[in-house]
Amino acid sequence: MSGDIDLAYEALIQFLYRAPVALIQLQRDGAIEILNPMAARLLMPLTPDGDMDNFFHVLRRHAPDLPQRCADFGAPQGVICEGLRISVDDAGSHAEAPAVLSLGLLKLDDNRLMAVLLDATQEVVREQTMLARAAQVDTLTQLPNRAGTLLLLRKMAARERAASGDHCALLLLNLDRFKQVNDTLGNAVGNQVLALVGERLRTTVRSGGRAGADGVTAETATHLGGDEFAVLLDGLPAPAVVERIAARLLERLGQPYRVGNQELALTCSLGMVVLDAGSRDADNLLRDAAIAMTVAKSQGGHRIVMFEQAMRDQALLRSSLEADLRTAVERAELFNVYQPVVGLMDGGRIDPAAGVEALVRWRHPVRGLVSPIEFIGVAEATGMIHAIGEQVLAAACRDFVAWQRQLGAQAPRLLAVNLSRAQLAESDLCDKVAAILTASGMPAAQLQLEITESLAAQGADIQHQLLGLKRLGVKLALDDFGTGYSSLSSLHLLPVDTVKIDRSFVSLAASSAHHKVLIEATVLVARSLGMNTVAEGIETIEQANVAHAQGCDKGQGYLYSRPLESADLLRWLATQPAPG
Ligand code: C2E
Ligand code: MG
Ligand code: MG
Repeated sequence: MSGDIDLAYEALIQFLYRAPVALIQLQRDGAIEILNPMAARLLMPLTPDGDMDNFFHVLRRHAPDLPQRCADFGAPQGVICEGLRISVDDAGSHAEAPAVLSLGLLKLDDNRLMAVLLDATQEVVREQTMLARAAQVDTLTQLPNRAGTLLLLRKMAARERAASGDHCALLLLNLDRFKQVNDTLGNAVGNQVLALVGERLRTTVRSGGRAGADGVTAETATHLGGDEFAVLLDGLPAPAVVERIAARLLERLGQPYRVGNQELALTCSLGMVVLDAGSRDADNLLRDAAIAMTVAKSQGGHRIVMFEQAMRDQALLRSSLEADLRTAVERAELFNVYQPVVGLMDGGRIDPAAGVEALVRWRHPVRGLVSPIEFIGVAEATGMIHAIGEQVLAAACRDFVAWQRQLGAQAPRLLAVNLSRAQLAESDLCDKVAAILTASGMPAAQLQLEITESLAAQGADIQHQLLGLKRLGVKLALDDFGTGYSSLSSLHLLPVDTVKIDRSFVSLAASSAHHKVLIEATVLVARSLGMNTVAEGIETIEQANVAHAQGCDKGQGYLYSRPLESADLLRWLATQPAPG
């Protein structure tokens, strides 16, 4: 029997001896009674003088408040503290010394305490890694966020690939017109959609390790924020594979999303850049992919664009253009020119005072005259279009009213002014137009606002806006007809008074039967709906004759006049023979 007890006792001793935690029994004043070897190991580095008689004394520098805690603990027994972190990383002379200890202190009775100590160094490192990782993960999609992406990119870019000869690439994806989803369905739905997109990306890409059919070893999906995602491709056998993968992503992301009980169609624009041996800078990679993505957007979205060096130069040019344009708008350096829109009459005669179209111009101090085609896009992207649009309309109305005073019956009878996409989205557009009409004394019925065809075809809000403008009494024209998506069969849906047939049709009308028929059909449908037609970009007498023969009411083009500054327009009008 006593042999059994001896054995059990021996086992207990062994257990305490080997336990990977430090166990110390102490008296109320900290005097150490018993400690196991692990305790000696953890405490030793803290006592340079080797004095381990008193626990509180050993920890006096690292946990000076321990004696007070114990004194404050009034209960006869219980846990005084648990998992108390004690930072001891100044015990540096010992290579093996823990940097952080975790202390539990138990009151056994009035005179005795039990301390349990653990080396928490690894635990703290793990926690810190987790925190750092959390800072690199997007909470919505659980994909690496921008910081995480940059880190991954840096790693990928730094990898030596001279030996393996493989490539890596960055694909940047941005959802097209995602703002509309947020605006019309709310941010909560928007977030759900983003989470779905993230999920779909994650399941479409192959994660590291094994080579897929394309021979790619790793594809990582990330979420840079907002509606912007990225895919990192590492270990590409050939740059051409990138295009195949990009096409696959575009196709997958383009499939409908189900949110609640509605189905949503979304497309995305994708910019990609293949890393060559020269480019090791992760930030540059992201910037280059973003440039390519912006090009994809500007080409109408839902497409893939590979980054090229020339795009970067273009982007630089654009940003300097942007800065200059801002200055020009502030200083009101933009001005209007006016192109006559003439009535087409029999025998090649014209009515020169039928109308004019206001066209904005910018004379840049260094670049010279910059085309609106170049800067309207910049103005839209930066929001400057709102100020520009107002300036153009206000100046045009003022000029028009002044011509009426000077020329009376010989003055142009209609003023056409272009509206941009962004202006149509302004909620107070109608109020602004009304205010400008009032301030200038411009009769609403003589103002024609022009919107491009591709715009008019879009959405209920635009319809609503157009109807609001009509209520002011102004006329509406559909610009560049034939270049957009709306068809003759949907013309009746639009509240417009005039259809302007695009120059690309008119310029071919004299030589191509096909285009001639298109013009004729447009005129017939427009007429049946009570709309006028204008042939744009007439440069030759032949084109003018075809336009007239097909029934166009009016024409506009270099044949009659280029756009002119106000004074030159008045001179031009004065030299025109009166229509008989
Ligand atoms: P648009 O409204 O279709 O204007 C007609 C464009 O065709 C003008 O170019 C005009 O100069 C040009 N054009 C007229 N006749 C001929 C011709 O016989 N041959 C050729 N080759 N071209 C001709 P511009 O002034 O460069 O304007 C281009 C576009 O920029 C305009 O197309 C319009 O969409 C936009 N834009 C111009 N001014 C404004 C503005 O004040 N606001 C907005 N939002 N857009 C404007
Ligand atoms: Mg126009
Ligand atoms: Mg046009």
